[in-house]
Amino acid sequence: MPAAMEEKPKPAAEPDSHGVAQDINWGDYRDHLTTADKDGHRRWLYPKKPSGFWHEHRKHLSWLLIAIMFAGPWIRINGNPLLLVNIVERRFSILGQIFWPQDTLIFAVAMLVFFAGIMIFTTAFGRLWCGWTCPQTVMMEMVFRKLEYLIEGDAAEQRALDAAPWTAGKFAKKAFKHTVFFGASFIVGNTLLAYIIGSEQLLRIQLDDPRNHIAGLTFMTLFSLLFYAIFARFREQACTFICPYGRFQSALLDENTLIVAYDNKRGETRAPLHRGETFVQRKTEGKGDCVNCRACVAVCPTGIDIRNGVQMECVNCTACIDACDTIMDKIGRPRGLVRYASLDNIAHGTPQRFTARMKLYAAVLTGLITLFLYLVFTRSDVETTLLRAPGSLFQVTADGRIENLYTVKVVNKTMHDIPVELRLEGRPGKVRVMGGSDFIVPAAKLAQTSVLIELKPKQLDGASTKLKLGVYSHGKLLETVNTAFVGPRSSEHDEEHEKHERERH
Ligand code: SF4
Ligand code: SF4
Repeated sequence: MPAAMEEKPKPAAEPDSHGVAQDINWGDYRDHLTTADKDGHRRWLYPKKPSGFWHEHRKHLSWLLIAIMFAGPWIRINGNPLLLVNIVERRFSILGQIFWPQDTLIFAVAMLVFFAGIMIFTTAFGRLWCGWTCPQTVMMEMVFRKLEYLIEGDAAEQRALDAAPWTAGKFAKKAFKHTVFFGASFIVGNTLLAYIIGSEQLLRIQLDDPRNHIAGLTFMTLFSLLFYAIFARFREQACTFICPYGRFQSALLDENTLIVAYDNKRGETRAPLHRGETFVQRKTEGKGDCVNCRACVAVCPTGIDIRNGVQMECVNCTACIDACDTIMDKIGRPRGLVRYASLDNIAHGTPQRFTARMKLYAAVLTGLITLFLYLVFTRSDVETTLLRAPGSLFQVTADGRIENLYTVKVVNKTMHDIPVELRLEGRPGKVRVMGGSDFIVPAAKLAQTSVLIELKPKQLDGASTKLKLGVYSHGKLLETVNTAFVGPRSSEHDEEHEKHERERH
C-alpha cells in the first residue's frame, strides 16, 4: 500500500512530559504544519524557556543589536542620520551618507551586494542571520517572549493559564501582558517611523499640536498595532508564512552549509533511557544517544522536531542545541548530539569546508563591495543637470557676443547649504546666473535656476560647440557637466555681424 494511503495513527491531544502537544504525527511531518491542527486551526505554541551556552551568547548579541536599533535614528554622522529610509521624500541616508533616487548606480550595486551577500552567507552559514540578527527573531525571542515568561511563567504555566476558566486573576494577568506588549509595540513602531521620517519629525509629531500631524499620528498608531499583532499573535508565522528567506534555503544550502543539525548517526536508533540502563548496553541493542526525551522539540519556537532534518521552519535559534546539551550532561554523554554542523560533517565526519561555490560567491561579493565603496566615496556632494532652455536657440548681444540660455538643476546630497558657482572649463566666456544673486542650494534639496552663457564668435567651433562647465563651491570644484552651445553657422554669423554693424552706425 502506498505510504500516503496508509492509515495515519490517531493523534493524541495531550502534551507529553515536556509540554509538547501530541496531535502531530511526527512521521509525516512534511505533510503538516506544526502550527496547525488536523482541521487547519492554529495550534498555539508554548516553547519552553531556553537556556544554555548558545542562548547566553545570543542574548548578549541581542542586547547590543536592540541598543543599536533603538539608538539608530538618533545617531548622526557628519550631521546626517546613521540610517534613514525616507520613502515619502525619496531621501536615504546610510552610515551618514545621503543618497538620492538619482544615485541609481549606487542603489543597483547596493542591491547586488545585498543579494550576493545573502547567497554567500546562506551557502556558508545557513540561517545564521535568522537566529542571531533578524529583528523579528531578536524582538520576539529576546523581548516579547521574555516579557511573557516574566508575566505568565514558563510554558507549562502559560498552557495552564490559557486552559483555565476566566477569573479576575487571569483577566488581570492577560490585561497586564497585553498592555505591556502594546507599550513595547508602540516603542518599536515609533522607532520604525523614526527610520522613515527622521527623529526630528518624529519628535515634532509627539510634542506638537496633534491636529497638525494627523497623518503622522495615524501611521504611529498603525505601526504600533501592526507590531502588536505580529508579536502578540502572529509570532513564528511571520517566519514560516511571510518571510521569503526561509524558502530560498532549498536552493542555497548544500551538504557543506553550516546548519543546526541532529547527528542521526550518533542519535539513532532513538529510544527512552531506562533506569539502570548503560550506554554500552544500549549500543549492543542498536540504540543511539537520543533518549527521545523531546526536550529539543519543547523549546523550539517554531514547533518543529530538529531530528527530522533540515526544515524550512527552522530559524537556527540554537534553543534545541542547548536543550539537548543539557540532557547529554544529565545522562553523561558528550554534548553535540544536536549542534552546528554540515550534513557532510555528520555523514562523513569531514570538517567544515570552503567549497568552490563559496569561493566564487566570495570573489563576486568582494568585487561588488569594492565597486560599491568606490562609488560611495568618489561621488560628488552635488548632482547637476544642465539643459538648454526649451524652445530657445541663441541670441546675439549688442557687442556681437552669442548667448545661450540654460536651465540648471542642482541636487544637494549633504545636510548643509551649498553656495554654487558655475565656471566655463578650458574656454573663455561668461556664465551668468539669472537674477544676479548667489545660487545657494539648500541642504538635502534640489534647487533650480536659469543660466546665461556668453561666448565671443571666434570662440565657437561652428553651429554647435561642446562646453564643459565646472560646478564650484568656495572655490572647490565639485563636479563637471557637459553641454552643447548653439551658435550661428558662419554665413549666418556674417549676416548677423553686418546687421549689427549697420545698426551701430
Ligand atoms: S529546530 Fe532548533 S534551531 Fe531550529 S528553530 Fe527549532 S529550536 Fe531553533
Ligand atoms: S533533546 Fe537530544 S536526546 Fe532529547 S530527543 Fe532531542 S535529540 Fe534526543
